[in-house]
Amino acid sequence: MNGLALLRDPLLNKGTAFTEHERDALGVRGLLPPHVLSQDEQAERTLLHIRRQPTDLEKYIELNALHDRNEALFFRVVCDNIDEMQPLIYTPTVGLACQRYGHIFQRPRGLFLGANDRGRVEQVLRNWPYQPAIIVVTDGERILGLGDLGANGMGIPVGKLALYTACAGIHPKLCLPVMLDVGTNNEELLADPYYIGLRQRRLVGAAYDELVEEFVSAAQKVFAGVLIQFEDFANHNAFRLLKKYRAHVPTFNDDIQGTAAVALAGILSALRITGGRLAEQKILFLGAGEAATGIADLIVAAMVHKGARPEAARERCWLFDSRGLVVRSRGDLAEHKQPYAHEHAPLAAFAQGVRTLKPTAIIGVAAVGGTFTADVLADMARVNRQPIVFALSNPTSKAECTAEEAYRNTGGRALFACGSPFDPVTLEGKTYVPRQGNNSYIFPGVGLGAIACRARRMKHEMFLAAAHALAEQVSASDLAQGSLYPALPRIREVSAEIATAVAAAAYRLGVAGAPRPADLGAHVRAQMFDPRYRTCERSAAPQ
Ligand code: NAD
Repeated sequence: MNGLALLRDPLLNKGTAFTEHERDALGVRGLLPPHVLSQDEQAERTLLHIRRQPTDLEKYIELNALHDRNEALFFRVVCDNIDEMQPLIYTPTVGLACQRYGHIFQRPRGLFLGANDRGRVEQVLRNWPYQPAIIVVTDGERILGLGDLGANGMGIPVGKLALYTACAGIHPKLCLPVMLDVGTNNEELLADPYYIGLRQRRLVGAAYDELVEEFVSAAQKVFAGVLIQFEDFANHNAFRLLKKYRAHVPTFNDDIQGTAAVALAGILSALRITGGRLAEQKILFLGAGEAATGIADLIVAAMVHKGARPEAARERCWLFDSRGLVVRSRGDLAEHKQPYAHEHAPLAAFAQGVRTLKPTAIIGVAAVGGTFTADVLADMARVNRQPIVFALSNPTSKAECTAEEAYRNTGGRALFACGSPFDPVTLEGKTYVPRQGNNSYIFPGVGLGAIACRARRMKHEMFLAAAHALAEQVSASDLAQGSLYPALPRIREVSAEIATAVAAAAYRLGVAGAPRPADLGAHVRAQMFDPRYRTCERSAAPQ
């Protein structure tokens, strides 16, 4: 490809960085202003421009436009400034971007499959010009904590795949965002003239299942072996679809399994500080949805892996939902909660649950802000030398407590992780650096590992391996300042370790589709996309 077409291909375009030689060789002389910039200079200019934007949404729009123009430069800026960029291209800004998606729409990215495409899904997939290795798909029904955003939810697969590339170096060409537009029940969107999706209410029942089935089987046919990550499906579909497809195709649900691995890694880090054993922990969850039961299931798997009996392991995990403690006498429990319905008197208040059960860890994933009150935290500090307190709900307004509250109300003894970012806290001369228990520590490495070994299935042991690998990346100096996760700027190195562990687990479990390379770590690293332009004078394209 050359000339104008080259400049318009975001995977090949280098903009003003095309050298004098390249401008002649590729037929772009005169199509660019004469001064040649290096990628370093372009990145610096881009950063200044982004920082000058008055709001995060405008920063998002500018970054998205760059993504559509020059992928290498976009990823260079994101990778080199991941702490600053991740909240702009993903949570929390992506939430607002999804709400306004139709109004800020510039260029389509990914594939839109509609309810009206039933019967021709395979044909639509064949319109995609590349051979993806990973698909992130949503039906837009439960976008972050924002509910049904219909086709506007496309911002989530787009943002998430940008993190797969930025955090784990999965080549952008291998990433395909998919929106299953099954309609929306969001009246405001249905009435919005600029809404990008179908004007119809959500498909339900057999019609919905048939469309999902057609998509999954067509994707496996057209893009053989592609990893399908389900994202932001509502509770009633998320568990069901995972159960239906995990045994047949390479698939996982990040809201359930990625969250689980990141939380388990945080607990393993906390236990490195307390010296406690996993099997001795008693964990009380506030929330009993995708995140809570996903985490509980993986903790149980980890305990069983260490020799515990499954029933004994499940008894260490307790759930608290909007109706109170999940106990056996409650007859109305959804299937995913049932394994954790223990014999106990009903309790209505979470604080009461903490006082009665005396957990070693509380994990907040109910999206109800402020529920880890001063009393709850003080009670945790009374019964534990170092209580584990994870306030994982997003966004910040939904956090169960702030970092400062967690440390202050436990006399600085809490081992704390948060879903939304909090600044370091200084108490009596000691500074604590809380880090985010964010899925973005896990899913990029899991995806890279699965792709590197061409995983045919995603087994829960692979998520266990990911959690252990992440916890091992936490240094003694991280732990000394109360950080249960590594620093985000190390994410590519961390993801490479996770990917190696995930691929090794896949080989062990017999689910890898590619022959095992002699040096798995080197093989994983060799696949990572480097956003720096190739320096070779004769080459036009980034790697
Ligand atoms: P979900 O809808 O599947 O589950 C929410 C659960 O909270 C339900 O069981 C509900 O009964 C319970 N709940 C609601 N109100 C309650 C109340 N007043 N008291 C007790 N329980 C109550 O949602 P989810 O996917 O599990 O996500 C929950 C939260 O976790 C969200 O805020 C999400 O952003 C956050 N989350 C964070 C991460 C992370 O990486 N930090 C990952 C996944 C989810």
